[in-house]
Amino acid sequence: MLNPCDEGFLSRLAALLPDGTLRPAEPRHLEEPRGLYRGRPGSVAMPGSVEEVSAIVRAAAADRVGIVPWSGGTGLVSGQVMPEGPLPLLLSLQRMSRVRGVYPTENVLVAEAGVTLLAAQQAAEAAGRLYPLSLASEGTCTIGGTLSTNAGGVQVLRYGNARELCLGLEAVLPEGSVWHGLRRLRKDNTGYDLRGLLIGAEGTLGVITAASLKLFPRPARHGTALLVVPSPAAALALLSLAGERVGTSVTAFELISGTGLRFQRQVLPQLRQPFAEPPDWSVLVDLGTEADRDPVALLEDLFAAALDAGLVSDGLVAASEAQRQDFWAVRENMNEANRRVGAILSNDISVPLGLIPGFIDAATAEIARSGPFRINCFGHVGDGNLHFNIFPEEGGTRAAHDAARGPLMRLVNDLVAAHDGSFSAEHGVGRAKVGELERYGDPAKLAAMRAIKAALDPAGIMNPGAVLRG
Ligand SMILES: Cc1cc2nc3c(=O)[nH]c(=O)nc-3n(C[C@H](O)[C@H](O)[C@H](O)COP(=O)(O)OP(=O)(O)OC[C@H]3O[C@@H](n4cnc5c(N)ncnc54)[C@H](O)[C@@H]3O)c2cc1C
Repeated sequence: MLNPCDEGFLSRLAALLPDGTLRPAEPRHLEEPRGLYRGRPGSVAMPGSVEEVSAIVRAAAADRVGIVPWSGGTGLVSGQVMPEGPLPLLLSLQRMSRVRGVYPTENVLVAEAGVTLLAAQQAAEAAGRLYPLSLASEGTCTIGGTLSTNAGGVQVLRYGNARELCLGLEAVLPEGSVWHGLRRLRKDNTGYDLRGLLIGAEGTLGVITAASLKLFPRPARHGTALLVVPSPAAALALLSLAGERVGTSVTAFELISGTGLRFQRQVLPQLRQPFAEPPDWSVLVDLGTEADRDPVALLEDLFAAALDAGLVSDGLVAASEAQRQDFWAVRENMNEANRRVGAILSNDISVPLGLIPGFIDAATAEIARSGPFRINCFGHVGDGNLHFNIFPEEGGTRAAHDAARGPLMRLVNDLVAAHDGSFSAEHGVGRAKVGELERYGDPAKLAAMRAIKAALDPAGIMNPGAVLRG
């Protein structure tokens, strides 16, 4: 049983830390982007070094006080907000925001956990390199947060997710020891993969304080097309064709539905819409090429070949950088349009690429049987990762369908499981999806996860109740 973070604990902790490290939590520490969970007023520790993080965790372990790591606060499954249970200490990595080194010859950047994703991208760019992780929240989310949630985003297809972009970590383990794993090695087969374990652990196995990250050469040229496809199956055939004709230059392959475009017309009329009439399905294809390959010519060639093969019926290849930005604005404003329309249910699922068309057909048919709902199915289709979000009928309200939320979630997730998929492709489990993990998780894996948690964090102080029920 944990103890609350009370005055006695805070005064013992204050004696170990520089003045000003402990502060009252601010409103931003208690909120999360979906507005579904709210933390309680308490205290936040803002350490400036790994030694201070270690002192905090050691004290919390001794007094059995829960710690909730908090970085940018942009997590979508409430891992960073704990609404119930003994009051925890929030631990913000915000002051650990130094880029410790950039090694262009090695294609490596070493950054502290509180560096924002945008700042890491900019540090790589200043060295003529690319750190390719890219999310709409990149101005606020941090290296520590993206690794702890194993974030994905729009360039996973080419470069991989946060886990695949990380070479080493520095972290404080739940009893307070510091793991100095900040290696810059591409090859290091020396025992269990602790780095892999901490990435995606959502703060339940320790606190990430710094990371060494993989960099890449920057593509010299970029091109983007919006291609109208008759169906999701055609979109996947187009992805294969793009692989054959363009190779690894495809950085993003995003599915866009007609429902999503209609939502944008309705609630974001200032956005320039690329098509006069929203097509039922289209894909945004983005290329990054070397200097001697013309991305516009490559996209036009792909468009022509896809027309011949009956995979596309219409399309636009961006003729300027401004037009390219307009195309991307359509994709990047999808979440905002959804928010303004008001989803009954939003999710973040993945299924094997080959099963996507069958999944979309089955889920659409079953939801239609449940009621007059609208579906905006969009996302990183090149990674098999879809947001299959469900909205009220035209003129209806989300509040009127509150009771439908649970059954709709069960319906979608049961179908995801039946299609060999995952109920959480890139957002994690947090507190919002603990029940789903218990229901759909593999029993052997769950038992191993519980054993790992008990071994590394016997007092259960690290992010109590996130991922695994306490
Ligand atoms: C507009 C918007 C768009 C988004 N788009 C995407 C997307 O395309 N793909 C995607 O994957 N996600 C996306 N997200 C979700 C979110 O940005 C990611 O989950 C991000 O990785 C969270 O980083 P953060 O720094 O904000 O972490 P927080 O929200 O502060 O924390 C997230 C989790 O990690 C833990 N944690 C944080 N820092 C540490 C640390 N240093 N050590 C240990 N544990 C820690 C927290 O306890 C919590 O469980 C989006 C969110 C928004 C608001």
